[in-house]
Amino acid sequence: MAVVCPECDNPLTIDVEDAEEGEKMVCDECGVELEIVSLDPLEVAPIEEGSYHDEAETLVPEDDEE
Ligand SMILES: [Zn+2]
Repeated sequence: MAVVCPECDNPLTIDVEDAEEGEKMVCDECGVELEIVSLDPLEVAPIEEGSYHDEAETLVPEDDEE
């Protein structure tokens, strides 16, 4: 599934079967850090660095075990 980088319109391919909300990725075109905010529809948003607010602080446990 494809989505475009909100910063540079670079098409990004995301395997939704393998992705989850909150997953972070980096646009290899402009280097912006992106977070998957929604899978259906697929939507990404840039992660704003330097905006440290306590609100919406979500700790997602690692779940890499097979
Ligand atoms: Zn980009």
